Amino acid sequence: MLKSIQSKLVLLFILVILSVMLTVGTFIVTNVTRFYYSDFMSQISTAVFTEDFVPQLEEATESQRSFQKLSELLEAASGRIGVDSYRNYAILDGKDGSFLTGSDELLTQVEMTDNILAALSGQVGNAVDNNGQYMEYAYPIMGENGPVYIVYIYETKEELNNFSGNMLSIILQALLVALLIAVVLGYLLSKTITTPIKNLTDRAEKIAEGEFEIGEESPSKDEIGVLTNTFRTMGQRLRETVQEVASQNTKLEKIMEYSTDGIVAFDTEGELLHINPSAKKYLSIREENIRFDEFFSNIFSDVSLGDFLYLNQDKQIIKESDYNNYYLKFHFGSFKYSDDTVGGVIVDVQNVTESRKLELSRREFVANVSHELRTPLTTVKAYIETLESGEVDAMMQTKFLDTIHRETDRMTRLVSDLLILSRLDNGVKLNLTRMSIEPILRDITEKLQFEARKKNQSLSYTMLNEIPAIPIDYDRMQQVIINIVSNAIKYTPNNGSVKLYSSYVSDNAIIRIVDNGMGIPEKDVKRIFERFYRVDKARSREQGGTGLGLAIAKEIVNAHAGDISLESRLNEGTEVVITLPVEKSFLQEPDSEEDSTALV
Ligand code: ADP
Repeated sequence: MLKSIQSKLVLLFILVILSVMLTVGTFIVTNVTRFYYSDFMSQISTAVFTEDFVPQLEEATESQRSFQKLSELLEAASGRIGVDSYRNYAILDGKDGSFLTGSDELLTQVEMTDNILAALSGQVGNAVDNNGQYMEYAYPIMGENGPVYIVYIYETKEELNNFSGNMLSIILQALLVALLIAVVLGYLLSKTITTPIKNLTDRAEKIAEGEFEIGEESPSKDEIGVLTNTFRTMGQRLRETVQEVASQNTKLEKIMEYSTDGIVAFDTEGELLHINPSAKKYLSIREENIRFDEFFSNIFSDVSLGDFLYLNQDKQIIKESDYNNYYLKFHFGSFKYSDDTVGGVIVDVQNVTESRKLELSRREFVANVSHELRTPLTTVKAYIETLESGEVDAMMQTKFLDTIHRETDRMTRLVSDLLILSRLDNGVKLNLTRMSIEPILRDITEKLQFEARKKNQSLSYTMLNEIPAIPIDYDRMQQVIINIVSNAIKYTPNNGSVKLYSSYVSDNAIIRIVDNGMGIPEKDVKRIFERFYRVDKARSREQGGTGLGLAIAKEIVNAHAGDISLESRLNEGTEVVITLPVEKSFLQEPDSEEDSTALV
């Protein structure tokens, strides 16, 4: 009930007023009572039992009619005594205190009080008895043998009680009014304190809920005003900090989300803390309930969480492994919190499949090149040594020189092809000119007719529909098509046919070279564009091939933003399709700069 500061303050006001009023009330009532008593005593002692009157009283007791005289004297002094309905006097016997007579005719006896007892022993009985019925004054009239009579003046406390009662009721009324004022004032005053506190509380609650409303600045300079403004500054700082932290978190999350590196974090217990999409993909993880040791012990036998947390805290350990069709590089390292305690382990997973493949293909490439050169070089060397020995006749000499010539040509072609590939690999600029493709195809068909006729093959070109002019590097594109048509002639037996088609489909120029030759086994088709890949190495070499023709063709077509594909069936024939986009905004615009590199 008294939970709010407001009610506590009102209660405090009430308690203060109550205690003040009660203290004042008690003080007043006590003092009034005391005043009444002392007034009564001093009145009696100074106005009644004066130095004149007491000897008269004593003298009266000595006379014969002592009692009568005493009564008369007192009756005559009743004005001075102040006899009224409250105050009376009585004459008591000086020996036993028994009632003899008094101003109150109705009274026939008096109660023996301490004051009467005092008077009986010869003392003036003027002690105050708060609990007694009367204020009293007992005066002994002394004879030779002690008190003869006792003049007993008594006054009821009715007047005092009435007066005190009135006073109390006035005080109570004042108290009520004061309490009312205290409640109202307390309420209003406490409101001026509690309203800003309530505002502060509301604001703090909002901040706790994550709403960083800054609010108005307080003009007040008191403690609460200062607190409000400090709170406002704190809210501002908090908002800025939270925003900064949130934006850093978002940044970090985005970086993690879009990172091509897989990132996995574990706590010191080995429980998963975080995993990004790349890591899920590389490690093929769907459920997020993996544990460090369980998971990595399947990949590496010598990796354990304890090593990173205790032994190799500041080291990074790199490991590589084939996993889930990827070649992955794992960087293991522990991370620490700001208080320098180890928080767990972070594993960075890099997909190095491509670079690994590249490295393997480079090695393979070097081995291939060495191999391709060594065979003709060995032949040439052997033939030259034989010729130098001079032990061969003229006919053999011609034959040897022919072979040397052929092998040298082959090596020249090989080196030339390698040079072309190297330039293409280094991103050589194409010499583009917008032109029609059909005349080129027609030209090639005518040029190679001779080759085809040698094998009694039919070589034809059909234009299915017209293709708009396209930007191409004439020399390079011509070389590509010559190479493919030559292959078709080479790998098609006598009497076969080689057909060229051109068409314009969906903004693309399509060139198809179809033969009905020996075809390529299915397993070789997917590797046919690789460098040095040949279906039948011996036969290809016999035919003077280098195994680089299709690889070069693919590089050149790709450089034109086009595509090349090959479909084949063994003993049925082969179809090569070149697709070139007609709109080539993606390529550099044709420029006048001549590319001096000649293909072949
Ligand atoms: P090569 O110099 O050996 O001809 P290519 O790269 O041009 O090298 O061709 C690679 C291999 O593809 C050839 O060795 C051959 O085995 C096969 N090939 C290419 N074209 C055809 C075709 N039209 N028919 C059958 N096999 C082909």
